[in-house]
Amino acid sequence: MRASVLLSTCLGMLVSLAESASIPSYFERSPSTPRRLDVVKVQRELGAQLSKGSVIFGPDDPRYPEALSRWNNFARPKVQLVIEPAQETDVSTIVKYCNRNSVDFLANNKGHGGTLTLASFDGVQINLASLRKIDIQPSGTSAWFGGGVYDGQVSWYLWDKGYVATTGACDCVGMMGPGLGGGHGRHEGLYGMISDNIRQLNVVLADGRRIRVNKNSHSDLFWAMKGAGHNFGIVTSFELNIYPRGPDTWHYHNYLWTGDKLEAVFNALNKFHNNGSTPVNMANNYGFFAMNPAVTDKAPIMQWTFAYRGSAAEAEKLLVDFNNIPAAGSLQGDVSYPEITSFQGTAEDSPLCQHGGYRATGTAGLQVYNVTAERQIFDSFQKRVASDPVLAASAQILHEGYSTAAVRAAKPDDSAYPHRDDNLLMLAQVVIPPGDKELENAASDWMTEIAGYWNAGQPSRKPTSYVNYANGGESLESIYGYESWRLNKLRALKAKYDPFNRFRFYNPIVSKRGKA
Ligand SMILES: Cc1cc2nc3c(=O)[nH]c(=O)nc-3n(C[C@H](O)[C@H](O)[C@H](O)COP(=O)(O)OP(=O)(O)OC[C@H]3O[C@@H](n4cnc5c(N)ncnc54)[C@H](O)[C@@H]3O)c2cc1C
Repeated sequence: MRASVLLSTCLGMLVSLAESASIPSYFERSPSTPRRLDVVKVQRELGAQLSKGSVIFGPDDPRYPEALSRWNNFARPKVQLVIEPAQETDVSTIVKYCNRNSVDFLANNKGHGGTLTLASFDGVQINLASLRKIDIQPSGTSAWFGGGVYDGQVSWYLWDKGYVATTGACDCVGMMGPGLGGGHGRHEGLYGMISDNIRQLNVVLADGRRIRVNKNSHSDLFWAMKGAGHNFGIVTSFELNIYPRGPDTWHYHNYLWTGDKLEAVFNALNKFHNNGSTPVNMANNYGFFAMNPAVTDKAPIMQWTFAYRGSAAEAEKLLVDFNNIPAAGSLQGDVSYPEITSFQGTAEDSPLCQHGGYRATGTAGLQVYNVTAERQIFDSFQKRVASDPVLAASAQILHEGYSTAAVRAAKPDDSAYPHRDDNLLMLAQVVIPPGDKELENAASDWMTEIAGYWNAGQPSRKPTSYVNYANGGESLESIYGYESWRLNKLRALKAKYDPFNRFRFYNPIVSKRGKA
């Protein structure tokens, strides 16, 4: 019941967005998935065409619940049946079969896509879990990865062989889910985002054609896949830069601060990031406002974690200002790079990564912290500890600060990723346990309020929303860029590569099927 209310609120916003956007006439009406797909029929017709090891199953199969498990149940697509291709070529066969039978299809990897636009999907989920091969190339400067690889898998595999890559920062998340929209991680200050490091992609287009996409082949699509890629195709494999792994250990330093230190912490953070010029080895810091009953159950606290690529001595020189703020708790240590996720709360078994729950979210991109806005956000949290204790208990207001030198150094127009000016990435989320509608609406209102504080705190900038954190209620411009040429170019490429708008479920550039 709650799900339907929050969905109707957010989908209501989407519909109004879709209606206000002009939808070019070249997006011809595509047929919709039959109300009920016959699993046995699909197994019979398609099964024989797929390579050995591929599987097709529906709701009666014991594997179905696990295959449909997601991080955010509010963003639950309607999956009538699941197909897991064993080989890259199977993806093309599946897409062609779906097209012949007027069935919608959706690529799925680690299930962390949280945008509510996914809930408009009804059809066949193509699970990429069998496409997880990694082949380091003889040059030692790149590797080919299957379209279903994920961050933790890649980090551990490469580290053991002496390399690193620009993975996302959370072990549980796929590489292409983030990478098609940018892909933020601990190496971006040095090497850029995932998308900046893609050399080429093997892509299955909406009509099932398999193409190679790089700077010489379909270079227009290559531009689009690096920032708006979810709208254009299914990546069955990709070649990405890899780098020598660097120092043997990374230093982490975690702090717990009570709310009275907020101004000191954010002033120190602004000095530390210095308008996007954080030293490249000071890879990232994450800070939460959250409840932590071990410290107090009366107020949220601030928990911050910093990761440095190198020794404790070098790192601690840069952390002096934070060490001078009296902390309620602090922990530091030195570990290998792939282990750092366990100490920053982003490992596969960390609470943040776990699937399940109905989540409301809000996001913003910032250049510097507005300390007054942060105080407003913290105080509004504090108020809810008394007024909405259930929501307050599960809320996490995440502040992400990466070193960004290489992201900023890349030319903004060279890819569809539009937010190279954002130095800081914000994501608020609250898990809503089953209960009444009021709580659901309260959660949604709270997340909107937080995003509002962040945006109001930078009055000279228009709101920006990282496509992979957007909940689908934001404007297309805030997601894909305000320069009009960006959305125009993306729409023209949609007309060329996906004229029937088959890829329209993940923060779609064109939100409605059919003609305007
Ligand atoms: C706990 C958590 C941690 C996160 N950490 C980070 C992070 O460190 N850095 C960051 O940048 N973002 C991060 N994100 C955001 C993340 O980028 C998105 O949630 C992303 O969509 C997740 O990809 P997935 O494979 O896990 O999810 P999925 O739901 O499986 O994929 C999301 C969408 O991506 C598309 N997709 C996935 N794989 C392919 C493919 N091979 N070809 C074509 N389309 C594909 C599909 O449209 C799919 O609906 C995080 C999100 C969560 C919830």
